[in-house]
Amino acid sequence: MFSVYMLMSIKKKYLKGNHYLFENRVVDLEEIAEGKFLLWFEKQFNAKAGHVVAIAADESHEPRIYSLCSSEKAQNMQILFDLKPDGVLTPRMASLKPGDVLYVSKPYGSFLPDTEIPMWWIATGTGIAPFRAMLQSGFKPAMLLHGARVASNFYFERDFKLELKENYIRCNSGSNGQGDFFGRVSAWIDAQDELPLSNKYYLCGRALMVVEVRDLLIAKGVRYENIVSEIFF
Ligand SMILES: Cc1cc2nc3c(=O)[nH]c(=O)nc-3n(C[C@H](O)[C@H](O)[C@H](O)COP(=O)(O)OP(=O)(O)OC[C@H]3O[C@@H](n4cnc5c(N)ncnc54)[C@H](O)[C@@H]3O)c2cc1C
Repeated sequence: MFSVYMLMSIKKKYLKGNHYLFENRVVDLEEIAEGKFLLWFEKQFNAKAGHVVAIAADESHEPRIYSLCSSEKAQNMQILFDLKPDGVLTPRMASLKPGDVLYVSKPYGSFLPDTEIPMWWIATGTGIAPFRAMLQSGFKPAMLLHGARVASNFYFERDFKLELKENYIRCNSGSNGQGDFFGRVSAWIDAQDELPLSNKYYLCGRALMVVEVRDLLIAKGVRYENIVSEIFF
């Protein structure tokens, strides 16, 4: 259900590809690590934790897709993005100011948390975004594995540590001693003698990681239908 405020704030929309994009306003932008930004913008539609939105700076280019990292209950929406210096959209997003316009679709997607079956969440880099939205919305995994190459890229680690304690494992593939495990998430999984086979495994990040981890999980006995993937391409 839309609130009156939401309906009043929805302005111009246009169709680009498969998406209707709605004029939206930037609320804030913060660089939280080198080339990694948190962007807040107006909430025009309700979203579920795990949803994505399509975003464009204007009608000149195809929208790009971003996982929301904000709570279902948050006043504004938030994404975490990685600046691609030669990309079309992210250099423009990285220079936005509060009040600037950007175009955002209704939230959508099927990467939604399970409330019946215990979940394992596995992410690399900005792939942590939908899990942050899930945690902030009240969902908790039995285990979270987060992979990064430098300590500053364990985004939201304070939130995860506080809530998940020893069930939050940081796999640092770049340097020893700046994570809980020295190596990739795939190496951590490979090192386990047994995995809980009745759990549901949620994977989010770049294609190489998702495919490698999916194959490892299957080799260790996890059924294909218990693996849910969101690939950032
Ligand atoms: C479901 C989903 C969720 C996503 N969620 C997130 C998220 O939460 N955070 C996030 O940071 N990203 C996310 N992404 C990725 C995001 O949609 C964009 O792909 C990314 O931000 C790059 O946008 P850009 O316009 O700046 O770069 P682009 O213009 O798309 O370019 C990306 C890179 O590809 C190169 N490139 C472009 N065209 C070519 C070509 N023809 N040949 C060779 N190289 C080329 C560019 O030089 C650049 O390095 C998600 C993607 C999907 C599918």
